Amino acid sequence: MADLTLAALTKVYPGGVRALDSVELTVADGEFFALLGPSGCGKTTLLRTLAGLETATSGAVLLGGRDVTAVPPGRRDVAMVFQDYALFPHMTVTDNIAYPLRIRKVPGRQRRDRAAQTAAELGLGDHLERRPDQLSGGQQQRVALARAMACHPRAFLFDEPLSNLDARMRLEARTFLKRLQRELGVTTVFVTHDQAEALALADRIAVMEHGRIRQLGTPADVFRRPANTFVASFIGSTPMNLLPGTAEGGAVHVAGTALPTPGGLALAEGEELTYGIRPEYLTFHPRPVPGALAGEVRVVENLGSSQLVTLEGPAGEVRVVVDEDTELAPGVAGHALPRADRALVYRNGELLGASGYE
Ligand code: ADP
Ligand code: MG
Repeated sequence: MADLTLAALTKVYPGGVRALDSVELTVADGEFFALLGPSGCGKTTLLRTLAGLETATSGAVLLGGRDVTAVPPGRRDVAMVFQDYALFPHMTVTDNIAYPLRIRKVPGRQRRDRAAQTAAELGLGDHLERRPDQLSGGQQQRVALARAMACHPRAFLFDEPLSNLDARMRLEARTFLKRLQRELGVTTVFVTHDQAEALALADRIAVMEHGRIRQLGTPADVFRRPANTFVASFIGSTPMNLLPGTAEGGAVHVAGTALPTPGGLALAEGEELTYGIRPEYLTFHPRPVPGALAGEVRVVENLGSSQLVTLEGPAGEVRVVVDEDTELAPGVAGHALPRADRALVYRNGELLGASGYE
């Protein structure tokens, strides 16, 4: 087991794409760390550079305090699990799991025993002689996991390992993976574009955009106090409302309405700000309420135990989560009141202040 450090890691591909731009990061020994960001932000490049499959343009990779920047992948003692699992189609489950042990010249008998044992731990004991195409997606995913585990690596590197599973399997595999990582205590870097996955799994999350880390913190940090409007709009099951406003008399006004504003902010009269409030933290009222944004109900989406309502009014579109018992139809008037203890204020896209959670 080992901690992992990236020091000013930069990767520029031939042709000039700057996929990683001076990334600084330390993952603690035994930590479950998620790298989260939209497609193309550099997640896979970061993981491949960690594994030694890509060469950094500048900067260093340290594993357990040792500089491994120039060490080839086979000698880094890390195991990568790929999005498509990269199983060998013509090999059995046992041979797939044992493959890295064969590369490491572990004797045949020992190799098969360890593969069988790892397979059994992951519930694959009855499928040892099957080939990948005779397994479900979830089982293939476990074979890929078993193959990574079999050589007892010092770190696991996962590149969107759940993204090829259907929604239900993905949830099961997620819980399974979290329990397994806790039991094994292996340092883990988990790449995903799915914010819910990162929040659910990780001890800490780095949110990336254009090859840079835009925020690094615990799931609670990035959810409660997104450091900038990029993270604010990326984290959360429904995108946060980010409303253009101005500072007047110490409060943020949006479309002429003074909204509940975090205390203690040094606001310049008349300056332009962005008011952030999650749809879950607005309450819906059929009649006008002081501090509420008025609009007309345009769209009602059924979320099962609640409804996502899009109001359109002078503030633009405002999304509100409303309980399942409220009867709503497009065309009626609505008023959305922000919860004072969940308001966020951004200046030039950077967090200026947040209320609540103290
Ligand atoms: P992600 O995994 O977050 O989707 P990637 O690390 O795959 O992002 O890609 C980051 C950027 O680097 C993208 O702009 C992508 O097009 C570019 N890129 C990735 N691999 C290569 C490559 N081998 N050659 C040139 N550009 C690449
Ligand atoms: Mg990728």
